Amino acid sequence: MAKPDHEVWVEILSYLRDNHSAVCRKWFEEIEPVRIEGGVFNVRLEHPIRRQYLERECSEHFTEALQAVTGRLMSVRFVEDEEPEAEAPSGPAVAASNGSMSGMRKAPASSSASPLAIVPDYTFENFIVGPENRLAHAAAKAVSSNPGKTYNPLFIHGGVGLGKTHLLQAICLALLNDFEDLSIYYVSCDEFMTQFMDAVQAGQMHDFRHRFRDVDVLVIDDIHFLAKRDRTQEEFFHTFNSLYQAEKQIILSSDAPPNEIPDLESRLVSRFQSGLVVQVNVPTYDTRVQIVKQKAKIRDITLEDDIACYIASRSATNIRELEGAITKVHMQSIADSKPLSLEIAKAALGSGDEEAIKPQVTISNIIETVTAFYGVKLTDLQSRRRQKSIALPRQVCMYLARRHTRFSLEEIGGYFGGRDHTTVMHAVKTIDRKRNEDYDFGRLVTSLEEQIEVASPGTIHAAAS
Ligand code: ADP
Ligand code: MG
Repeated sequence: MAKPDHEVWVEILSYLRDNHSAVCRKWFEEIEPVRIEGGVFNVRLEHPIRRQYLERECSEHFTEALQAVTGRLMSVRFVEDEEPEAEAPSGPAVAASNGSMSGMRKAPASSSASPLAIVPDYTFENFIVGPENRLAHAAAKAVSSNPGKTYNPLFIHGGVGLGKTHLLQAICLALLNDFEDLSIYYVSCDEFMTQFMDAVQAGQMHDFRHRFRDVDVLVIDDIHFLAKRDRTQEEFFHTFNSLYQAEKQIILSSDAPPNEIPDLESRLVSRFQSGLVVQVNVPTYDTRVQIVKQKAKIRDITLEDDIACYIASRSATNIRELEGAITKVHMQSIADSKPLSLEIAKAALGSGDEEAIKPQVTISNIIETVTAFYGVKLTDLQSRRRQKSIALPRQVCMYLARRHTRFSLEEIGGYFGGRDHTTVMHAVKTIDRKRNEDYDFGRLVTSLEEQIEVASPGTIHAAAS
């Protein structure tokens, strides 16, 4: 057993910053490499949420960095204690299900990667408050200092990428920090439905109910996906009532206010409205500048004001695009071996007005890119066939067409085999969600987006010719 050399560790971190800056965080400086043993580089983290983040997002990158720096084939393991991890299965305090945080404090090191685990960055500290989210933020804070006693349920709604998940997770993180014994269950709506269906099939409703009803705080993200299937809504209704009557805190997020969620039973609508319903709106320019600075800061990138303003001015609505822009600018300064400057930012993002240079994506660019990637034919996409190998690329096409062209839902549905607009809406939601929850899939979609934009003649060229 050998103790890793400090310099090697420093080199590994710097390799990661140069090559995988998007996943790097300032707190990496606090990580402690503990020992090398049997080709495994053990890294200790006291913080279970940070450990989960590393396991989920960074394992591969660390392995690559280790090999690049040491020239040896090694893998990395993130451990909680200095003792080798016991191979014992997770204790009952940690539900085996995805996304659970109940009993997180007492949890033994569990390496089951959960798609919905809490993101350590999503704290209140890292949340920028502006006029568009002030109320939602205040309500979230109130609930996190007094769960079950202030607003119950707390219902946060708003468009994609406006900070709903961030706020929900900030509440969870604050509660975990401040209340020793609170059990918290955080899941996506999809996960709730999947677990319900599985429990029904396996005849394990008792376990299911225990999991969802014997908690102090139940947090369900994207509740608008609650399916029309009667039994799911029925079950959720009873879950809700049981928690509510016991004065347990319920926190929900949705893309629409309760009364505008399609197919939601009226008794659920009125339950959801019985607590506090708050909206998050599109961020103002000032908030965007602050968010850009904050996002850079947690990645340990220093951005001067002029650069932050420039980045913030480049994308009006979606905050995720801002994060991508920070990565681009940072990578450009590494590639040029120059410190960050406005010049570099402009070179990385292209100068001028965003709209003017945004390439005009056509449906055929999308089809070409997606069919080439998935190895399917356009006729498959337009057919009635529903197997996954065709349904997924079809949904990706619909999503890209909706996001990057000006065609209406009806037009897109019609083009892809005479489907109606709700099918397209569903595809957009599904891909959006998957993009959020599944890191690799998110990267794939981003790379497809880059390809369709490269393949498209930009208006600049059109204007020049
Ligand atoms: P939603 O769940 O509403 O679709 P998310 O919570 O996933 O959106 O937010 C998308 C990204 O934007 C996340 O990286 C999140 O941290 C960031 N974000 C959104 N609003 C804010 C804010 N007010 N302050 C800091 N980051 C924010
Ligand atoms: Mg979300």
